Amino acid sequence: MQCDQPSPENGIFLGHYTAAVPRSTLFSRLLSQMSRRGWIAIAVALAVNLTVVSIGLALDARRGTDSSAASRIGGARVSPPQGSASKRAAGTTTTTQPDPIALPPAPPRTPVILPTSSSGAPLISRVPTTDRVVFVTIDDGVVRDPAVIDTVRRMKIPVTVFPVRDFARQGQAYFQQFVDLGGLVEAHSIKHSNLTKLSAKAQQAEICGPLADLQTMFGRRPLLFRPPFGAYNSATLSIAASCGYRYVVNWTAAANDGRIDWQAGKMQAGDIVLFHFRTDLVQNLLLLDSICKQQGFTVARLEDYLLAT
Ligand SMILES: [Zn+2]
Repeated sequence: MQCDQPSPENGIFLGHYTAAVPRSTLFSRLLSQMSRRGWIAIAVALAVNLTVVSIGLALDARRGTDSSAASRIGGARVSPPQGSASKRAAGTTTTTQPDPIALPPAPPRTPVILPTSSSGAPLISRVPTTDRVVFVTIDDGVVRDPAVIDTVRRMKIPVTVFPVRDFARQGQAYFQQFVDLGGLVEAHSIKHSNLTKLSAKAQQAEICGPLADLQTMFGRRPLLFRPPFGAYNSATLSIAASCGYRYVVNWTAAANDGRIDWQAGKMQAGDIVLFHFRTDLVQNLLLLDSICKQQGFTVARLEDYLLAT
């Protein structure tokens, strides 16, 4: 039961208590014999009490602002969400609460040895690192929930988005916001077909087709390709390399419906986590945030590890 909610048990108890006290007790006799001056004194005391309580509540309401501002200024616990500093500087009374989900920044990247291949783009499902970092990748783009942008901003994490080409077109401004927050847009085909069921020519269109459009939209030519459903064959890898992708990227963990399934049974350094632009995305990101904090991990940018050399 919530402490700040009326308790039915309390009400019943008080009722019984009142009814159980006989009027002939010493207490009730004292009450009835109390002087007029005594009643006035009690009334004054109650009024003073109410005033003190009211002032206390008002201070508590303000404290949300003041303590959050203090923690931001001190910088020890949280740093301000973007935009709040300018609002404060402008002298507005915007009250930004301390950010409960800002993850610490990723540690300096330790160089990693990545696989190479002469027959195509290497497939990466986990980044071979001992840094306590994981990577957030978000696919498709049918649902474009503005709350996701806010969550990513508050978590202060870079994300790699893999929109299907037409969803990128429909939601260009939406996906650009991830770029503005330090993320990058990579490629995830045009029609979201299972590539293993396509001819080499049809695969070519699906894999290489989005590159020019994504470059026009987001000002950068993608260097990572994620195959729809994670399905690929040798032709996928060789075609990906032929049109300039550095890696084909799958995953070692998948987030769905407020649950994350880790391939190794638990979070491991270098895990690439698959999310989707769906209605459960905020919930899934918050779950990752919570697990990272519990286990001392943070989120790093995938491209910082895969494309550093
Ligand atoms: Zn997909």
